[in-house]
Amino acid sequence: PARTRFAPSPTGYLHLGSLRTALFNYLLAKRTGGQFLLRIEDTDQKRTIPDAELRLFRDLRWAGLQWDEGPEVGGPYGPYKQSERSALYKEHAQHLLDSGNAYRCFCSTERLHKLAESRHRMGLATDYDRACASIPQEESDDRAYKHESHVVRLRMPDESPQYNDLIYGTFKPLKQRRGEQSFEDPILLKSDGLPTYHLANVVDDHLMAITHVIRGSEWMPSTPKHIAMYNAFGWTPPQFAHVGLLVDEQGNKLSKRNFDTDISAFGEMEIFPETLTNFAALLGWSHHEKSDVMDLDTLVKNFSMKFTRGNTTVTFGKLHFLQRKHAAIRANAGGEGLQEMVQNVAKLLQDPEGPYQEWRQLVRSPLPERYIEKIIQSDAENYTNANEFVYRNSFMFTPLRHPASFTDAEDVPTRAKSLVDLSEWTKENLMQKVREIIDTRPGGKKASKDVYHYLRKALTDREEGMRIYDVMLILGRKECLRRLGVEVE
Ligand code: GLU
Repeated sequence: PARTRFAPSPTGYLHLGSLRTALFNYLLAKRTGGQFLLRIEDTDQKRTIPDAELRLFRDLRWAGLQWDEGPEVGGPYGPYKQSERSALYKEHAQHLLDSGNAYRCFCSTERLHKLAESRHRMGLATDYDRACASIPQEESDDRAYKHESHVVRLRMPDESPQYNDLIYGTFKPLKQRRGEQSFEDPILLKSDGLPTYHLANVVDDHLMAITHVIRGSEWMPSTPKHIAMYNAFGWTPPQFAHVGLLVDEQGNKLSKRNFDTDISAFGEMEIFPETLTNFAALLGWSHHEKSDVMDLDTLVKNFSMKFTRGNTTVTFGKLHFLQRKHAAIRANAGGEGLQEMVQNVAKLLQDPEGPYQEWRQLVRSPLPERYIEKIIQSDAENYTNANEFVYRNSFMFTPLRHPASFTDAEDVPTRAKSLVDLSEWTKENLMQKVREIIDTRPGGKKASKDVYHYLRKALTDREEGMRIYDVMLILGRKECLRRLGVEVE
Protein backbone atom coordinates (compact mmCIF):
# COMPACT_ATOMS: atom_id res chain seq x y z
CA PRO A 1 0.00 0.00 0.00
CA ALA A 2 1.27 3.44 -0.93
CA ARG A 3 1.10 6.44 1.35
CA THR A 4 0.89 9.56 -0.75
CA ARG A 5 0.24 13.19 -0.04
CA PHE A 6 -0.91 16.37 -1.61
CA ALA A 7 1.08 19.23 -0.10
CA PRO A 8 -0.25 22.55 -1.36
CA SER A 9 0.95 25.91 -0.16
CA PRO A 10 -1.97 28.18 0.70
CA THR A 11 -0.53 30.88 -1.55
CA GLY A 12 -3.16 30.27 -4.20
CA TYR A 13 -6.24 28.27 -5.01
CA LEU A 14 -6.55 24.83 -6.53
CA HIS A 15 -5.85 24.94 -10.27
CA LEU A 16 -6.09 22.33 -12.99
CA GLY A 17 -2.39 21.44 -12.60
CA SER A 18 -2.56 21.08 -8.84
CA LEU A 19 -5.83 19.16 -9.02
CA ARG A 20 -4.12 16.72 -11.37
CA THR A 21 -1.22 16.29 -8.94
CA ALA A 22 -3.61 15.70 -6.06
CA LEU A 23 -5.62 13.27 -8.17
CA PHE A 24 -2.65 11.13 -9.21
CA ASN A 25 -1.58 10.85 -5.57
CA TYR A 26 -5.14 10.01 -4.55
CA LEU A 27 -5.45 7.36 -7.26
CA LEU A 28 -2.18 5.68 -6.37
CA ALA A 29 -3.11 5.51 -2.69
CA LYS A 30 -6.59 4.13 -3.41
CA ARG A 31 -5.40 1.72 -6.08
CA THR A 32 -2.96 0.14 -3.64
CA GLY A 33 -5.24 0.25 -0.61
CA GLY A 34 -3.08 2.89 1.03
CA GLN A 35 -3.68 6.37 2.40
CA PHE A 36 -3.89 9.78 0.81
CA LEU A 37 -2.75 12.64 3.03
CA LEU A 38 -3.31 16.36 2.84
CA ARG A 39 -0.61 18.58 4.28
CA ILE A 40 -0.65 22.36 4.30
CA GLU A 41 2.78 23.76 3.50
CA ASP A 42 2.45 27.25 4.88
CA THR A 43 6.10 27.98 5.54
CA ASP A 44 5.95 31.11 3.44
CA GLN A 45 3.62 33.07 5.68
CA LYS A 46 4.14 36.28 3.74
CA ARG A 47 2.57 34.81 0.63
CA THR A 48 -0.29 33.01 2.36
CA ILE A 49 -3.76 34.00 1.16
CA PRO A 50 -6.23 34.07 4.07
CA ASP A 51 -9.04 32.01 2.53
CA ALA A 52 -6.87 29.70 0.43
CA GLU A 53 -6.84 26.86 2.93
CA LEU A 54 -10.60 26.56 3.30
CA ARG A 55 -11.08 26.91 -0.43
CA LEU A 56 -8.58 24.09 -1.00
CA PHE A 57 -10.52 21.83 1.37
CA ARG A 58 -13.79 22.69 -0.31
CA ASP A 59 -12.49 22.29 -3.86
CA LEU A 60 -10.77 18.98 -3.15
CA ARG A 61 -13.93 17.61 -1.57
CA TRP A 62 -16.02 18.89 -4.45
CA ALA A 63 -13.77 16.90 -6.80
CA GLY A 64 -14.27 13.84 -4.60
CA LEU A 65 -10.70 13.70 -3.31
CA GLN A 66 -11.33 13.18 0.37
CA TRP A 67 -8.09 12.77 2.29
CA ASP A 68 -7.58 10.01 4.86
CA GLU A 69 -5.29 12.06 7.07
CA GLY A 70 -4.88 15.79 7.29
CA PRO A 71 -6.55 18.97 8.45
CA GLU A 72 -10.12 18.59 9.70
CA VAL A 73 -9.87 14.79 9.77
CA GLY A 74 -6.73 14.31 11.87
CA GLY A 75 -4.57 11.21 11.85
CA PRO A 76 -1.65 9.64 13.70
CA TYR A 77 1.08 11.91 12.25
CA GLY A 78 -0.44 15.34 12.87
CA PRO A 79 -0.55 18.21 13.00
CA TYR A 80 -0.78 18.37 9.22
CA LYS A 81 -0.07 22.04 8.93
CA GLN A 82 3.55 23.06 8.81
CA SER A 83 3.16 26.28 10.78
CA GLU A 84 2.14 24.08 13.72
CA ARG A 85 5.26 21.94 13.46
CA SER A 86 8.04 24.53 13.83
CA ALA A 87 9.68 22.86 16.83
CA LEU A 88 10.10 19.64 14.86
CA TYR A 89 11.97 21.35 12.06
CA LYS A 90 14.30 23.18 14.46
CA GLU A 91 15.09 19.92 16.16
CA HIS A 92 15.90 18.28 12.84
CA ALA A 93 18.05 21.16 11.67
CA GLN A 94 19.95 20.79 14.92
CA HIS A 95 20.58 17.10 14.17
CA LEU A 96 22.16 18.09 10.89
CA LEU A 97 24.26 20.78 12.58
CA ASP A 98 25.42 18.24 15.13
CA SER A 99 26.37 15.69 12.49
CA GLY A 100 28.22 18.28 10.40
CA ASN A 101 25.78 17.99 7.49
CA ALA A 102 24.63 21.56 7.98
CA TYR A 103 26.29 24.79 9.04
CA ARG A 104 25.25 28.22 10.21
CA CYS A 105 25.63 31.02 7.72
CA PHE A 106 26.00 34.51 9.15
CA CYS A 107 26.29 36.33 5.82
CA SER A 108 24.22 39.47 5.59
CA THR A 109 21.67 39.88 2.85
CA GLU A 110 23.77 42.72 1.43
CA ARG A 111 26.77 40.44 1.14
CA LEU A 112 24.74 37.71 -0.51
CA HIS A 113 23.23 40.23 -2.85
CA LYS A 114 26.62 41.61 -3.91
CA LEU A 115 27.98 38.11 -4.25
CA ALA A 116 25.15 37.11 -6.55
CA GLU A 117 25.64 40.24 -8.63
CA SER A 118 29.35 39.81 -9.13
CA ARG A 119 29.06 36.10 -9.88
CA HIS A 120 26.33 36.90 -12.33
CA ARG A 121 28.57 39.50 -14.02
CA MET A 122 31.34 36.92 -14.32
CA GLY A 123 28.89 34.53 -15.90
CA LEU A 124 29.05 32.16 -12.95
CA ALA A 125 26.20 30.36 -11.25
CA THR A 126 24.83 32.61 -8.55
CA ASP A 127 25.22 30.12 -5.77
CA TYR A 128 26.61 30.68 -2.34
CA ASP A 129 30.42 30.77 -2.03
CA ARG A 130 30.49 28.82 1.22
CA ALA A 131 32.20 31.58 3.12
CA CYS A 132 30.63 30.37 6.38
CA ALA A 133 31.12 26.67 5.81
CA SER A 134 34.53 26.69 7.44
CA ILE A 135 33.71 28.67 10.57
CA PRO A 136 34.93 26.53 13.48
CA GLN A 137 32.19 24.85 15.50
CA GLU A 138 32.93 26.72 18.69
CA GLU A 139 32.89 30.12 17.03
CA SER A 140 29.65 29.27 15.27
CA ASP A 141 28.01 28.13 18.51
CA ASP A 142 29.21 31.22 20.28
CA ARG A 143 27.89 33.62 17.67
CA ALA A 144 24.53 31.82 17.65
CA TYR A 145 24.43 31.94 21.44
CA LYS A 146 24.89 35.70 21.20
CA HIS A 147 21.91 35.89 18.89
CA GLU A 148 23.84 36.89 15.80
CA SER A 149 21.44 36.64 12.92
CA HIS A 150 22.01 33.54 10.79
CA VAL A 151 20.44 30.88 8.65
CA VAL A 152 21.20 27.16 8.59
CA ARG A 153 22.41 25.69 5.32
CA LEU A 154 22.72 22.11 4.15
CA ARG A 155 26.24 21.09 3.22
CA MET A 156 25.64 19.57 -0.19
CA PRO A 157 27.95 16.73 -1.17
CA ASP A 158 30.48 17.58 -3.90
CA GLU A 159 28.62 15.38 -6.33
CA SER A 160 24.93 16.10 -6.40
CA PRO A 161 23.17 12.80 -5.69
CA GLN A 162 21.37 10.92 -8.44
CA TYR A 163 17.98 9.39 -7.99
CA ASN A 164 15.74 7.16 -9.97
CA ASP A 165 12.64 8.98 -11.11
CA LEU A 166 9.65 6.72 -11.76
CA ILE A 167 8.95 8.62 -14.96
CA TYR A 168 12.30 9.97 -16.09
CA GLY A 169 14.56 7.15 -14.91
CA THR A 170 18.01 8.04 -13.59
CA PHE A 171 18.01 11.75 -13.09
CA LYS A 172 21.34 13.55 -13.04
CA PRO A 173 21.30 17.22 -12.22
CA LEU A 174 22.93 19.54 -14.72
CA LYS A 175 26.68 19.29 -14.69
CA GLN A 176 28.45 22.08 -12.92
CA ARG A 177 29.68 24.52 -15.46
CA ARG A 178 33.34 24.61 -16.47
CA GLY A 179 34.45 22.86 -13.33
CA GLU A 180 33.84 25.98 -11.29
CA GLN A 181 33.32 25.83 -7.56
CA SER A 182 29.61 26.09 -7.09
CA PHE A 183 27.68 25.09 -4.04
CA GLU A 184 23.98 25.16 -3.92
CA ASP A 185 23.86 24.73 -0.17
CA PRO A 186 20.14 25.26 0.30
CA ILE A 187 18.87 27.14 3.32
CA LEU A 188 17.05 24.90 5.79
CA LEU A 189 16.17 27.33 8.55
CA LYS A 190 15.63 31.02 7.91
CA SER A 191 16.93 33.72 10.23
CA ASP A 192 13.57 33.78 12.03
CA GLY A 193 14.07 30.13 12.92
CA LEU A 194 11.31 28.95 10.60
CA PRO A 195 11.99 26.22 8.06
CA THR A 196 12.21 26.59 4.31
CA TYR A 197 10.10 24.47 1.99
CA HIS A 198 13.04 22.06 1.49
CA LEU A 199 13.51 21.17 5.14
CA ALA A 200 9.85 21.03 6.09
CA ASN A 201 8.94 19.00 3.01
CA VAL A 202 11.61 16.35 3.61
CA VAL A 203 11.11 16.08 7.36
CA ASP A 204 7.36 15.73 6.93
CA ASP A 205 7.47 13.23 4.11
CA HIS A 206 9.71 11.10 6.28
CA LEU A 207 7.80 11.49 9.55
CA MET A 208 4.47 10.94 7.80
CA ALA A 209 5.82 7.74 6.24
CA ILE A 210 5.17 8.86 2.68
CA THR A 211 6.20 6.18 0.18
CA HIS A 212 5.56 7.93 -3.15
CA VAL A 213 5.71 11.55 -4.20
CA ILE A 214 4.01 12.47 -7.44
CA ARG A 215 4.54 16.14 -8.18
CA GLY A 216 5.00 18.61 -11.00
CA SER A 217 8.26 18.62 -12.93
CA GLU A 218 8.92 22.18 -11.75
CA TRP A 219 10.11 20.54 -8.51
CA MET A 220 12.68 18.36 -10.25
CA PRO A 221 15.63 20.70 -9.60
CA SER A 222 14.81 20.49 -5.88
CA THR A 223 14.85 16.72 -5.72
CA PRO A 224 18.65 16.22 -5.61
CA LYS A 225 18.73 18.60 -2.64
CA HIS A 226 16.01 16.58 -1.00
CA ILE A 227 17.84 13.33 -1.66
CA ALA A 228 21.00 14.83 -0.15
CA MET A 229 18.96 15.67 2.94
CA TYR A 230 17.50 12.16 3.22
CA ASN A 231 21.05 10.84 2.97
CA ALA A 232 22.29 13.26 5.61
CA PHE A 233 19.54 12.15 7.98
CA GLY A 234 20.20 8.50 7.16
CA TRP A 235 16.64 8.05 5.90
CA THR A 236 15.32 6.15 2.89
CA PRO A 237 13.77 8.63 0.47
CA PRO A 238 10.30 8.02 -0.96
CA GLN A 239 9.97 7.24 -4.66
CA PHE A 240 9.57 10.25 -6.88
CA ALA A 241 7.54 10.69 -10.04
CA HIS A 242 7.59 14.07 -11.73
CA VAL A 243 4.73 14.74 -14.09
CA GLY A 244 5.10 17.18 -16.98
CA LEU A 245 3.86 20.70 -17.23
CA LEU A 246 0.44 21.48 -18.67
CA VAL A 247 0.61 23.55 -21.84
CA ASP A 248 -1.92 24.87 -24.32
CA GLU A 249 -2.13 23.89 -27.96
CA GLN A 250 0.52 26.46 -28.86
CA GLY A 251 2.85 24.93 -26.31
CA ASN A 252 2.56 27.83 -23.88
CA LYS A 253 2.13 27.40 -20.18
CA LEU A 254 -1.53 27.48 -19.21
CA SER A 255 -2.63 30.95 -18.31
CA LYS A 256 -5.78 32.55 -16.98
CA ARG A 257 -6.96 32.95 -20.55
CA ASN A 258 -6.84 29.26 -21.25
CA PHE A 259 -8.48 27.79 -18.19
CA ASP A 260 -5.67 27.98 -15.68
CA THR A 261 -8.28 29.31 -13.32
CA ASP A 262 -9.11 28.02 -9.94
CA ILE A 263 -11.17 24.87 -9.86
CA SER A 264 -14.33 26.55 -8.62
CA ALA A 265 -14.58 28.25 -12.03
CA PHE A 266 -15.28 24.82 -13.54
CA GLY A 267 -17.99 24.29 -10.97
CA GLU A 268 -19.50 27.64 -11.87
CA MET A 269 -19.52 26.51 -15.50
CA GLU A 270 -21.49 23.50 -14.20
CA ILE A 271 -18.77 21.08 -15.23
CA PHE A 272 -19.44 17.97 -13.17
CA PRO A 273 -16.74 16.95 -10.68
CA GLU A 274 -16.53 13.52 -12.33
CA THR A 275 -15.96 15.22 -15.68
CA LEU A 276 -13.14 17.31 -14.29
CA THR A 277 -11.37 14.43 -12.54
CA ASN A 278 -11.74 12.34 -15.69
CA PHE A 279 -10.29 15.19 -17.73
CA ALA A 280 -7.43 15.84 -15.30
CA ALA A 281 -6.53 12.16 -15.10
CA LEU A 282 -6.04 11.94 -18.85
CA LEU A 283 -3.49 14.77 -18.77
CA GLY A 284 -0.30 12.77 -18.96
CA TRP A 285 -1.55 9.40 -17.77
CA SER A 286 -2.32 6.60 -20.19
CA HIS A 287 -4.40 3.45 -19.85
CA HIS A 288 -5.41 0.41 -21.86
CA GLU A 289 -9.17 0.71 -21.57
CA LYS A 290 -11.40 0.95 -24.62
CA SER A 291 -12.97 4.16 -23.46
CA ASP A 292 -11.55 7.34 -21.97
CA VAL A 293 -14.75 7.94 -20.04
CA MET A 294 -14.23 7.01 -16.37
CA ASP A 295 -15.65 8.16 -13.10
CA LEU A 296 -13.47 8.35 -10.02
CA ASP A 297 -14.01 4.72 -8.97
CA THR A 298 -13.18 3.49 -12.44
CA LEU A 299 -10.05 5.64 -12.47
CA VAL A 300 -8.99 4.04 -9.19
CA LYS A 301 -9.60 0.58 -10.62
CA ASN A 302 -7.58 1.26 -13.76
CA PHE A 303 -4.80 3.38 -12.30
CA SER A 304 -1.17 2.54 -12.94
CA MET A 305 1.98 4.64 -12.91
CA LYS A 306 2.03 4.94 -16.68
CA PHE A 307 2.78 8.57 -17.35
CA THR A 308 4.04 10.26 -20.46
CA ARG A 309 7.25 12.21 -20.29
CA GLY A 310 7.43 15.87 -21.13
CA ASN A 311 4.75 18.50 -21.31
CA THR A 312 1.09 17.63 -21.68
CA THR A 313 -1.14 19.53 -24.07
CA VAL A 314 -4.53 20.48 -22.69
CA THR A 315 -7.33 20.49 -25.24
CA PHE A 316 -10.59 21.79 -23.95
CA GLY A 317 -12.69 20.14 -26.63
CA LYS A 318 -12.01 16.98 -24.66
CA LEU A 319 -13.48 18.54 -21.53
CA HIS A 320 -16.78 19.15 -23.26
CA PHE A 321 -16.76 15.71 -24.84
CA LEU A 322 -16.33 14.14 -21.41
CA GLN A 323 -19.00 16.39 -19.93
CA ARG A 324 -21.56 15.14 -22.45
CA LYS A 325 -20.57 11.55 -21.76
CA HIS A 326 -20.94 12.01 -18.02
CA ALA A 327 -24.24 13.81 -18.51
CA ALA A 328 -25.52 10.75 -20.34
CA ILE A 329 -24.26 8.50 -17.55
CA ARG A 330 -26.03 10.66 -14.96
CA ALA A 331 -29.25 10.67 -16.94
CA ASN A 332 -29.11 6.90 -17.23
CA ALA A 333 -28.42 6.32 -13.58
CA GLY A 334 -31.35 8.56 -12.68
CA GLY A 335 -30.03 9.51 -9.26
CA GLU A 336 -28.86 12.67 -7.56
CA GLY A 337 -26.64 13.60 -10.48
CA LEU A 338 -29.67 13.83 -12.75
CA GLN A 339 -31.65 15.75 -10.13
CA GLU A 340 -28.89 18.34 -9.95
CA MET A 341 -29.15 18.88 -13.70
CA VAL A 342 -32.94 19.13 -13.43
CA GLN A 343 -32.66 21.72 -10.68
CA ASN A 344 -30.20 23.81 -12.66
CA VAL A 345 -32.49 23.82 -15.66
CA ALA A 346 -35.54 24.59 -13.50
CA LYS A 347 -33.74 27.54 -11.93
CA LEU A 348 -33.03 29.00 -15.31
CA LEU A 349 -36.61 28.58 -16.51
CA GLN A 350 -37.94 30.29 -13.43
CA ASP A 351 -35.73 33.33 -13.86
CA PRO A 352 -38.28 36.17 -13.91
CA GLU A 353 -36.07 38.11 -16.31
CA GLY A 354 -35.47 35.12 -18.54
CA PRO A 355 -37.07 34.31 -21.90
CA TYR A 356 -38.94 31.21 -20.74
CA GLN A 357 -41.90 32.69 -18.88
CA GLU A 358 -44.47 30.55 -20.64
CA TRP A 359 -42.88 27.18 -20.24
CA ARG A 360 -45.28 26.04 -17.51
CA GLN A 361 -48.11 26.21 -20.04
CA LEU A 362 -46.43 23.45 -21.97
CA VAL A 363 -46.14 21.10 -19.05
CA ARG A 364 -48.78 18.41 -19.24
CA SER A 365 -47.86 16.53 -16.14
CA PRO A 366 -48.41 18.21 -12.79
CA LEU A 367 -44.70 17.96 -12.01
CA PRO A 368 -42.60 20.43 -13.95
CA GLU A 369 -39.46 18.64 -12.72
CA ARG A 370 -40.63 15.46 -14.38
CA TYR A 371 -41.12 17.34 -17.66
CA ILE A 372 -37.58 18.73 -17.52
CA GLU A 373 -36.21 15.36 -16.51
CA LYS A 374 -37.72 13.66 -19.54
CA ILE A 375 -36.16 16.22 -21.86
CA ILE A 376 -32.76 15.82 -20.24
CA GLN A 377 -33.02 12.06 -20.43
CA SER A 378 -33.76 12.08 -24.12
CA ASP A 379 -31.03 14.58 -25.03
CA ALA A 380 -28.43 14.02 -22.30
CA GLU A 381 -25.66 13.17 -24.73
CA ASN A 382 -25.78 16.83 -25.75
CA TYR A 383 -25.91 18.32 -22.27
CA THR A 384 -23.01 20.57 -21.28
CA ASN A 385 -24.70 23.00 -18.90
CA ALA A 386 -28.21 24.22 -18.14
CA ASN A 387 -27.97 27.38 -20.17
CA GLU A 388 -26.72 25.75 -23.35
CA PHE A 389 -29.13 22.89 -22.92
CA VAL A 390 -32.21 25.07 -22.56
CA TYR A 391 -31.12 27.17 -25.50
CA ARG A 392 -30.55 24.08 -27.60
CA ASN A 393 -33.98 22.71 -26.70
CA SER A 394 -35.78 26.03 -26.37
CA PHE A 395 -38.69 24.72 -28.48
CA MET A 396 -39.57 22.53 -25.49
CA PHE A 397 -39.74 25.57 -23.24
CA THR A 398 -41.51 28.15 -25.37
CA PRO A 399 -44.77 27.72 -27.28
CA LEU A 400 -43.93 28.10 -30.97
CA ARG A 401 -46.15 30.90 -32.20
CA HIS A 402 -45.70 31.03 -35.93
CA PRO A 403 -46.35 27.72 -37.60
CA ALA A 404 -43.37 26.80 -39.71
CA SER A 405 -43.83 27.36 -43.39
CA PHE A 406 -43.14 24.23 -45.31
CA THR A 407 -42.77 24.19 -49.05
CA ASP A 408 -40.93 20.89 -49.65
CA ALA A 409 -44.13 18.96 -50.21
CA GLU A 410 -47.32 20.84 -49.73
CA ASP A 411 -49.58 17.88 -49.10
CA VAL A 412 -47.66 16.86 -46.00
CA PRO A 413 -49.00 19.45 -43.51
CA THR A 414 -52.56 18.43 -44.32
CA ARG A 415 -51.83 14.72 -44.09
CA ALA A 416 -49.99 15.20 -40.78
CA LYS A 417 -53.15 16.59 -39.25
CA SER A 418 -54.51 13.06 -39.22
CA LEU A 419 -52.49 12.45 -36.07
CA VAL A 420 -55.56 13.90 -34.39
CA ASP A 421 -57.30 10.57 -35.03
CA LEU A 422 -55.06 8.68 -32.62
CA SER A 423 -57.00 7.38 -29.67
CA GLU A 424 -53.93 7.01 -27.52
CA TRP A 425 -50.77 9.12 -27.76
CA THR A 426 -48.18 6.37 -27.40
CA LYS A 427 -44.94 5.83 -29.21
CA GLU A 428 -46.21 2.70 -30.97
CA ASN A 429 -49.34 4.45 -32.19
CA LEU A 430 -47.43 7.50 -33.31
CA MET A 431 -44.93 5.43 -35.24
CA GLN A 432 -47.67 3.47 -36.90
CA LYS A 433 -49.63 6.58 -37.87
CA VAL A 434 -46.55 8.31 -39.27
CA ARG A 435 -45.86 5.17 -41.29
CA GLU A 436 -49.39 5.32 -42.69
CA ILE A 437 -48.94 8.96 -43.66
CA ILE A 438 -45.74 8.10 -45.45
CA ASP A 439 -47.32 5.16 -47.24
CA THR A 440 -50.18 7.27 -48.63
CA ARG A 441 -47.64 9.42 -50.46
CA PRO A 442 -45.79 8.57 -53.64
CA GLY A 443 -42.02 8.88 -53.79
CA GLY A 444 -40.56 6.09 -51.66
CA LYS A 445 -37.61 7.32 -49.57
CA LYS A 446 -38.38 10.91 -50.40
CA ALA A 447 -41.89 10.51 -49.00
CA SER A 448 -40.51 9.47 -45.67
CA LYS A 449 -37.91 12.23 -45.62
CA ASP A 450 -40.51 14.90 -46.34
CA VAL A 451 -42.76 13.74 -43.55
CA TYR A 452 -40.04 13.62 -40.94
CA HIS A 453 -38.65 16.94 -42.09
CA TYR A 454 -42.05 18.54 -41.79
CA LEU A 455 -42.69 17.10 -38.33
CA ARG A 456 -39.37 18.41 -37.10
CA LYS A 457 -39.95 21.83 -38.62
CA ALA A 458 -43.47 22.17 -37.31
CA LEU A 459 -42.83 20.76 -33.87
CA THR A 460 -39.39 22.20 -33.13
CA ASP A 461 -38.72 24.86 -35.78
CA ARG A 462 -35.26 23.34 -36.13
CA GLU A 463 -33.46 21.22 -38.66
CA GLU A 464 -32.11 18.75 -36.11
CA GLY A 465 -32.20 17.89 -32.45
CA MET A 466 -33.91 15.50 -30.06
CA ARG A 467 -35.49 12.33 -31.44
CA ILE A 468 -38.79 13.39 -32.92
CA TYR A 469 -40.90 10.72 -31.18
CA ASP A 470 -39.49 11.90 -27.86
CA VAL A 471 -40.52 15.44 -28.78
CA MET A 472 -44.05 14.26 -29.55
CA LEU A 473 -44.38 12.25 -26.37
CA ILE A 474 -42.95 14.86 -24.06
CA LEU A 475 -44.85 17.79 -25.56
CA GLY A 476 -48.01 15.72 -25.46
CA ARG A 477 -50.98 15.48 -27.75
CA LYS A 478 -52.51 18.90 -27.35
CA GLU A 479 -49.37 20.95 -27.86
CA CYS A 480 -48.23 18.78 -30.77
CA LEU A 481 -51.52 19.11 -32.56
CA ARG A 482 -51.55 22.84 -31.96
CA ARG A 483 -48.10 23.08 -33.56
CA LEU A 484 -49.39 21.03 -36.49
CA GLY A 485 -52.21 23.54 -36.92
CA VAL A 486 -55.05 21.46 -35.41
CA GLU A 487 -57.03 23.19 -32.70
CA VAL A 488 -58.19 20.72 -30.09
CA GLU A 489 -59.79 21.10 -26.74
N1 GLU B 1 4.26 22.93 -1.24
C1 GLU B 1 4.68 22.50 -2.53
C2 GLU B 1 3.70 23.05 -3.53
O1 GLU B 1 3.09 24.03 -3.26
C3 GLU B 1 4.77 21.00 -2.55
C4 GLU B 1 5.70 20.45 -3.60
C5 GLU B 1 5.87 18.97 -3.38
O2 GLU B 1 4.94 18.23 -3.69
O3 GLU B 1 6.89 18.57 -2.83
O4 GLU B 1 3.47 22.56 -4.61
